[in-house]
Amino acid sequence: MTFDFDLYVVGAGSGGVRAARFAAGFGARVAVAENRYLGGTCVNVGCVPKKLLVYGSHFHEDFARAEGFGWTIGETRFDWATLIGNKNAEIERLNGIYRNLLVNNGVTIHNGHARIVDPHTIEVDGQRHTARHVLIATGTWPRLPDVPGVEHAISSNEAFFLKTLPARVIVVGGGYIATEFAGIFNGLGSRTTQLYRRELFLRGFDQDVREHLRDQMTQAGVALRFHSDIARIDKRADGGLTATLNDGGTIDTDCVLYATGRRAMLDGLGLENTGVALTDDGFIAVDRDYQTAEPSILAIGDVIGDQHGRMQLTPVATAEGMAVARRLFQPGEHAPVDYRDIPTAVFSQPSIGTVGMTEQQARDAGQAITVFTTRFKPMNLSMTKVPGQVLMKLIVDAHSDRVLGCHMVGPDAGEIIQGLAVAMKAGATKRMFDETIGIHPTAAEEFVTMRTPQP
Ligand code: FAD
Ligand code: NDP
Repeated sequence: MTFDFDLYVVGAGSGGVRAARFAAGFGARVAVAENRYLGGTCVNVGCVPKKLLVYGSHFHEDFARAEGFGWTIGETRFDWATLIGNKNAEIERLNGIYRNLLVNNGVTIHNGHARIVDPHTIEVDGQRHTARHVLIATGTWPRLPDVPGVEHAISSNEAFFLKTLPARVIVVGGGYIATEFAGIFNGLGSRTTQLYRRELFLRGFDQDVREHLRDQMTQAGVALRFHSDIARIDKRADGGLTATLNDGGTIDTDCVLYATGRRAMLDGLGLENTGVALTDDGFIAVDRDYQTAEPSILAIGDVIGDQHGRMQLTPVATAEGMAVARRLFQPGEHAPVDYRDIPTAVFSQPSIGTVGMTEQQARDAGQAITVFTTRFKPMNLSMTKVPGQVLMKLIVDAHSDRVLGCHMVGPDAGEIIQGLAVAMKAGATKRMFDETIGIHPTAAEEFVTMRTPQP
């Protein structure tokens, strides 16, 4: 049978674009369908605009620090519309870059919603296209809980396009998105409350990291309320909102932002016309080669959830896109994605950077470990009245001396941990850390000067 395309990619996000681009580069005939925005979640309503807002919200602290270094700062004013307008222009520029990346590699772009009508046929805007392989890379969508009045709340998707900065905001959730947005709104001057239903946010991160961030965010002015959730939301006559909590208490606010997880985006995809199976939590089930239960259909990226130890992060989706393109069209170069020790950052304020095992994970694995921890005031706060402490922590295998985990809370944590992730991948021992000459004066040098293990 002949097909219109060798590969048809549904979704031009992080994973889909990478797969399409590389497959076309290997000589395959490739099309990609996209129904919203080129670049997907990360470029449009994820990593990129989020990081721009984090930068924007940090000036508040930068101005406060400046005085200690001799600067007199005049009246400062923040204009949300300018920040959002400039962010939108930057995203449009990136959309254009993604378009060029695809077109210049010879990928055909179909702007519209793709529906799979049979295992080799995709329909977009009434047009049918056939393909030998179909790759689903449709990502995820925010999941809001079913509480009365939830229609008055927003998700991160809308937060990026609010007309005005809310004077008061409640962020619900204890994951990456909630914690990052709590920092953004607080830094920009909104009175910010973050609610989390269990005892401490960022479940799965190292306990010291979680506690340290809790203390630093509280000091920075975020009202953190744990063991707390919203039972209902009511709109008041004055246009504001009242959130009634599970314990009966109420909070008046101008905005409720739910960041309570994300579901696989499968709406109108036509999976019922295929043999594709789902996992118990509704993601597309795949084997380690991203093969679904339908022989011609593969799936990568956030739409496959956290199977096989993967994480829902852009660099993971792009690595999978590359792996699929190579396996299908350049098998000699194929290498499976290594999900061990994926480094990650939470762009909270202060930020978290982490790679490898937490102390608890190492103990649960029955490993004999040595733990090194340091807390200090960073030099750039030294002549200022701005409070702030950095945390760094190393988890070391007591027998082999291998470094099992590196954790940091503080400025530029992601930048610093990225380099340590390479060291861990190379199998670095604590002794190698100790023998590495530090760069002085930096915060990062503390990672190679920690000598006294925790008792
Ligand atoms: P997506 O990027 O979601 O792309 C899927 C695409 O498919 C979308 O463009 C969608 O419109 C399209 N689509 C869906 N259905 C159809 C259809 N039927 N037809 C046509 N097109 C369709 N990750 C990081 O690594 N670092 C970060 O700092 C970070 N910050 C984030 C902040 C937020 C607020 C969010 C929400 C996510 C963040 N992430 C971050 C996660 C990151 O965005 C995702 O891991 C990444 O985008 C996943 O890529 P993907 O290709 O799987 O899906
Ligand atoms: P997460 O799954 O990380 O967090 C969801 C949070 O919401 C958890 O704290 C969860 O609590 C809580 N929650 C879930 N359901 C409810 C409910 N019904 N009521 C109250 N609370 C609830 O999802 P996010 O949406 O924050 O982010 C999705 C993914 O996107 C992340 O896991 C990450 O992979 C990626 N991402 C990465 C970023 C980065 O790299 N910097 C930034 C943003 C997103 P509980 O702990 O009890 O389950």
